[in-house]
Amino acid sequence: MIKLHPAIDNGWQPAKPGFTGGTIVCHCKGDPVVVEIGSQTAHNHACGCTKCWKPEGAIFAQIAVVSRDKVRVLEGENKLEVVDPSATIQRHACKACGVHMYGRIENRDHPFYGLDFVHTELSDEQGWSEPEFAAFVSSVIEGGVSPDKMGEIRDRLNELGLPPYDALSPALMDAIATHVARQNGKLAA
Ligand SMILES: [Zn+2]
Ligand SMILES: [Zn+2]
Repeated sequence: MIKLHPAIDNGWQPAKPGFTGGTIVCHCKGDPVVVEIGSQTAHNHACGCTKCWKPEGAIFAQIAVVSRDKVRVLEGENKLEVVDPSATIQRHACKACGVHMYGRIENRDHPFYGLDFVHTELSDEQGWSEPEFAAFVSSVIEGGVSPDKMGEIRDRLNELGLPPYDALSPALMDAIATHVARQNGKLAA
């Protein structure tokens, strides 16, 4: 069976009611970067884009969002650098191991301003929000996956209960479009 991501391939732990977050840790053996995520995450999903950090050998990333005021670097701040300062999402990665610790949007007009993107697989705690869908599925081809594998990949995602989309999920695409419509006056703010 095709492998998509180690935290997805064999199913996952259910989200815990009342879960209040935990810490995520980079892959460095010594002096790792430690980041506190001070609440439950939301919109957890598999992402096929070429920008998100993926563990070794994975076709997809797994990523969720959390309010940026809940994200706090506890240790190793000096090891973090922004991967691509020109990108919409500023991905703060560990310079030593390459793991992305949080992605932050600094553009206040962006529909997702206020949300940080985090990989809860970097946490030992159980109970984080569960993956709900797969985003940017066609983009895995840009990452080097053969196009003739796409049927198998989409079938497997459906089997896992993660509907595959080639952009974000309809709910998130609608949220983006609503934000844009309010900005340009087509809808009341
Ligand atoms: Zn590291
Ligand atoms: Zn992505």
